[in-house]
Amino acid sequence: MILLTSDTEKRPTPAMRRAIAAAEVGDEQRGEDPSVNRLQERVAELLGKEAGLFLPSGTMCNLIAVRTHAEAGQVMFAERDAHVLRAEGGGAALVSGVLADPIDGERGIFDAQAFERAYARATALPPPWGPKPRLLCVEQTHNVGGGAVWPVDKLDAVCAAAHHAGLRVHMDGARLMNAVIASGAPAARFCAGTDSAWLDFTKGLGAPIGAVLAGSRAFIDEARRFKHLFGGAMRQAGIAAAGCLYALDAHVERLAEDHANARRLAEGLAAIDGIALPLGMPETNIVFFDPRGTGKSPAQICEALLARGVRMVPMGSRVRAVTHLDVSTAQIDEAIAAVSAVC
Ligand SMILES: *Cc1c(COP(=O)(O)O)cnc(C)c1O
Repeated sequence: MILLTSDTEKRPTPAMRRAIAAAEVGDEQRGEDPSVNRLQERVAELLGKEAGLFLPSGTMCNLIAVRTHAEAGQVMFAERDAHVLRAEGGGAALVSGVLADPIDGERGIFDAQAFERAYARATALPPPWGPKPRLLCVEQTHNVGGGAVWPVDKLDAVCAAAHHAGLRVHMDGARLMNAVIASGAPAARFCAGTDSAWLDFTKGLGAPIGAVLAGSRAFIDEARRFKHLFGGAMRQAGIAAAGCLYALDAHVERLAEDHANARRLAEGLAAIDGIALPLGMPETNIVFFDPRGTGKSPAQICEALLARGVRMVPMGSRVRAVTHLDVSTAQIDEAIAAVSAVC
């Protein structure tokens, strides 16, 4: 099976498993796991923040970050297709009671003026009528935007506008390292205008468990309290952190291969009659295509592909395919041939 459903569909490599097996461990809940501590320090430094917090998943990073930044009844702005709004079970509402206010973006990206328009709309009525704006979330790269990369200038301008309005800025950096490899800008540069940011290790970085949230020391101290009360504090979690440390050493530069494979896939698909690429060529590792010009729906295409050993996922009017370290260039060519045959 060629698994293009998501970049979470990979397995730890033999070398990563050796690193995991050899992990130095301690009681993470007491702050005594050396592998976890090393990982937290390393990610904090990578993102240019004071401190880091190891968490079981990216979803928990967003959940805890929103809770740490915002109080119930306050406004959280995010792009309309953001993962934090669409794919996390409404956790921000359940746990933090925030009022989510969507911003229209293009491929998930918006400019400072779009933020200012949303802010003006949210604050049209003064207190006590209008709600209190508190937080802006940005997603780098943007998942539903086809792995689109926020340019540094645009991100800086949006962060500055949010800070000018007295808001905090949180970055969902699930695929931040894909943006780093695609653009050449360092991770800390992208995070410079944010108050918190996180990295997921279980996407393109190829680890089985873990994400690290980073921010100021005061922010992380408070976030650690929520980690514990949400049941996210672990024990010998160095077993998981060792996979993440290994990923930082061995799986960052190679993201360029995933990007080249995504581009190759998109070019192959674009050459098939009736297939459109509504988001254009991918900048990173996520490809969306609209197959309806072939007379087949996304669901029909995906089902027929399964019979040929290729798994992609229907999403609305489109099909999503994501490249990762368990998909070779030869398999990309097989996948293109399978889509062509199915169409
Ligand atoms: C996957 C993803 C998440 C959630 O991360 P998990 O590790 O799956 O919980 C959050 N945001 C974005 C953009 C993602 O792609």
